[in-house]
Amino acid sequence: MPAAAPALFPDPLDDVRSRYPEAVTDQMRALIDPADPADPIALQFLPDLRELDQLPVEDGDPIGDDRFSPLPGVVHRYADRVLFKMIAACPVYCRFCFRREMVGQGEPGLSGPALDAALAYVAARPAIREVILTGGDPFMLSARRAGELTRQLAAIAHVELIRWHTRVPVVDPQRVDSTYAEALRVSGAATYVAIHANHPREFTPAAEAALARLVDAGIVLVSQSVLLKGVNDDAGTLADLMRAFLRNRVKPYYLHHPDLAPGTGHFRLSIARGQALMAQLRRTISGLGQPTYILDVPGGASKAPLGPAYLREDPEGGLEVLGAANGWQPVAAAQSPGD
Ligand code: SF4
Repeated sequence: MPAAAPALFPDPLDDVRSRYPEAVTDQMRALIDPADPADPIALQFLPDLRELDQLPVEDGDPIGDDRFSPLPGVVHRYADRVLFKMIAACPVYCRFCFRREMVGQGEPGLSGPALDAALAYVAARPAIREVILTGGDPFMLSARRAGELTRQLAAIAHVELIRWHTRVPVVDPQRVDSTYAEALRVSGAATYVAIHANHPREFTPAAEAALARLVDAGIVLVSQSVLLKGVNDDAGTLADLMRAFLRNRVKPYYLHHPDLAPGTGHFRLSIARGQALMAQLRRTISGLGQPTYILDVPGGASKAPLGPAYLREDPEGGLEVLGAANGWQPVAAAQSPGD
């Protein structure tokens, strides 16, 4: 067969793809409406020329992982918990990813002697109660490796919590079969899984079935989402997203303000806009559906809850309702205050 002729007009997006990898699962691709140039699923996963615009304020390591890395693949920022970056691959590559300089870029994950060293690091530090498994996406590990890692961690007496952060149950749900869910269950430690989703349409029947398999295996699920311009930065979408988590037994946990990752400026909105959306969410759904709106302070110093504040105490001990600044209304005027 003759070799294919080179394209006469190169695709300008190839420059983006050569900088940051592209991957979209069949499940997510099927959700994209090709007739909608602003489709929120496409925005999350398809390359965009704006990714080549890097602002001076952006940083390849926006939350300062490297500064707090005592060993390859380990981040130890807070005394009582440590992060293992298990694998640098994901089933999808989110165009806003805060670790986009690392994921899908061929970096090694934690295995063999490097994993042994990471486990020994935890074992030698009784203050560490929680190990957070991240990546990339740690659910890219096989069920066998995930189960083995779970058992190794639970065997360390002072490790009480094992927390996985993953997008797989939503974007590649068939991967989370009952064998996988069972592999995460272990005695000696509680397993939590933080489920990453950003738009209510991501909750397909297959995704909901995968989430049910995890919950039914005794795993505690919490949510994490990123507040993204054009994807979920309106009150209705955000409320529907939190309702989707809740009905799937996923407790809303974190709503991240976007990090200063390179080439992601088109996703960022102001903190004031995010606070106004949180105030609207508070008015719309119950307290059970409220995530913490959070910012990883650039450089990695800490996580900072962004509010908004709803009340201010005056010098006489009275309370002032802060309405104008964040869209909040006095209780008497609100139609449906959260419980
Ligand atoms: S799944 Fe997570 S780590 Fe992977 S590309 Fe998306 S945001 Fe980044």
